[in-house]
Amino acid sequence: MGMTRDDETSFGFRTVKTGDKARLVRSVFDSVASKYDLMNDLMSGGVHRIWKSVLLDRIGPQPNERLVDVAGGTGDIAAGFLKRADARPSADRKPPAKAIICDINYEMLKAGEDRPDMAAFGDRLTRVTGDAETLPFPDKSFDAYTIAFGIRNVTDMNAALRDAYRVLKPGARFFCLEFSHPITDGLQKAYDAYSFNVIPKLGEMVANDRDSYQYLVESIRKFPAQDAFAARIREAGFSNVKYENLTAGVAAIHSGWRV
Ligand code: SAM
Repeated sequence: MGMTRDDETSFGFRTVKTGDKARLVRSVFDSVASKYDLMNDLMSGGVHRIWKSVLLDRIGPQPNERLVDVAGGTGDIAAGFLKRADARPSADRKPPAKAIICDINYEMLKAGEDRPDMAAFGDRLTRVTGDAETLPFPDKSFDAYTIAFGIRNVTDMNAALRDAYRVLKPGARFFCLEFSHPITDGLQKAYDAYSFNVIPKLGEMVANDRDSYQYLVESIRKFPAQDAFAARIREAGFSNVKYENLTAGVAAIHSGWRV
């Protein structure tokens, strides 16, 4: 990964002023919001659903728990969390689980709100615009924090990790699902060929936006490798930090506890 000055950061393979990145990221997701769910299915052949399902397995949602799904976009994780908590045998004896989707981009939240599968949750599922670096929530508010395919878009990842720690209750859990780095050179080459040649073209055809999907694949390559990212989570204060590779490292789930 290349070095940048303090007032510069990466936006995909470009180096940009730190203060400009959030605006550039916002314009990417403004542009793709209405086609976001469709593009996820097309780009991954539906595999993102399996990864999200594994994430929900690891979380093990329970009734009476409160989740914040940061960079939650259209809300797959928050909705899955509530569905699973509701399906627990103890669900009819305890207060129901609640979830908040927090995203910097109103268009992404709006695209999720319009999904028919979200209506069932009523006011147990709420949406708030906010930046992962400075979440609009009090300290020690949540039993679980998730960020799926979101943290690589955040300008100051360390600030986001510190704020994740701040909003979690002692004994609560942090989970990050993110594209990562394939564990074999052969797979990395095949993955690069697919991502750099196919995904921007798909973006152009389906969402009429090649540049946003070019950014997406570049930002994946710039994201720290599994061990380096785990170290940053530890530096933010989390304990029992670990990760699990999915599809041989194409994606990974990192987790940690606030003790
Ligand atoms: N979590 C959803 C999912 O897995 O389908 C959406 C992931 S989407 C690739 C990334 C999301 O991160 C977008 O909705 C974007 O608006 C949001 N985002 C980017 N930077 C953010 C920030 N600094 N704070 C909060 N959300 C951010």
